[in-house]
Amino acid sequence: LQNITKVFSDRKTGNSVTAVTDMSFSVAPGELVAVVGPSGCGKSTILNMVSGLYGPTEGQVLIDGEKVTGTRPEVGFMLQKDLLLPWRSIVENVEFGLEEKPFNKAERRKRALAELQRMQLADFADSYPHQLSGGMRQRAALARTLAIEPELVLLDEPFSALDAQTKLVLQRHFARTIADAGVTCVLITHDLNEAVIMSDRVVVLSGRPGRVVDEFEIDLPHRTD
Ligand code: ADP
Ligand code: ADP
Repeated sequence: LQNITKVFSDRKTGNSVTAVTDMSFSVAPGELVAVVGPSGCGKSTILNMVSGLYGPTEGQVLIDGEKVTGTRPEVGFMLQKDLLLPWRSIVENVEFGLEEKPFNKAERRKRALAELQRMQLADFADSYPHQLSGGMRQRAALARTLAIEPELVLLDEPFSALDAQTKLVLQRHFARTIADAGVTCVLITHDLNEAVIMSDRVVVLSGRPGRVVDEFEIDLPHRTD
C-alpha cells in the first residue's frame, strides 16, 4: 500500500468520512502480516482495497508491482462469519471455490478432501455446516479458501465469534497451515494477542482516520514449531 487515503461519502448524511489517511506498508511473499487496531480505524477498508472491491481515493495498492484495479482470482478471502452454504456438505462447500478452475469433478473432490485432511476435518466431509461447531466451520472455511491455491489470503477477524480455547487452538493451527502452504497472508484483527501469536510482523493502526502508528517484527518460532 502506497500512501493510501480513502474517503467515503456517508450513506445517510452525505458527509465525507476519511477512513484511512496516508497509509503505507508492504507484505513480503510468504509473510503473514497482522494489521491490528481498534474498531473504526479502517482495517476492513484496507482489506477491501487490497481485494479490489473498491479503489483508494489517493495512493495505490500494488500486488507483485501491479496496480490492483478489481477483484482477482488469486486472492482468497475468509471473513468473520464463514459463508458456508448450508445446503451443501462440507466437502461440497470446499469444492465450491474450485468450480471456476479447470478441474473435473474427480479432481475437485480430490483437492477438497486433501484440504479437509490438512484442516483435520476429513471425517466430516459429508457432514453439513449446522452439524459442525463454530471452530470446525471456520476450519472448513479456511480449507475452502486454501483449496483455490491463492497467492494471497486475506483474513478478516476470522476467530472473533469463537470461544477463547477454540480461538487459541485455531490461531496456532491457522498460522502453521498458512506457513506450510507458503501463502502470503494479511490478517485483520482488533486483538493484539492474536496478532502476536499468528504473525511474522504486526502493523499497528490507530486513530480516525486510521494511520500506521507502529510496526514490529515477531521473533518467535510460532509458525514452524
Ligand atoms: P467492521 O467494524 O467489521 O468493519 P462495520 O459494521 O463497520 O464492520 O462495517 C460493515 C460494512 O458496512 C462494511 O462493508 C463497511 O464498508 C460498511 N460501512 C461502515 N460504515 C459505513 C457508513 N457510515 N456508511 C456506509 N457503509 C458503511
Ligand atoms: P474497522 O474495520 O477498523 O472497524 P472500517 O474500515 O470498517 O474500520 O471503517 C473505518 C471508517 O470508515 C469508519 O468510520 C466507517 O464508518 C467508515 N466506513 C467504512 N466503510 C464505509 C462506507 N462504505 N461508507 C461510508 N463510510 C465507511
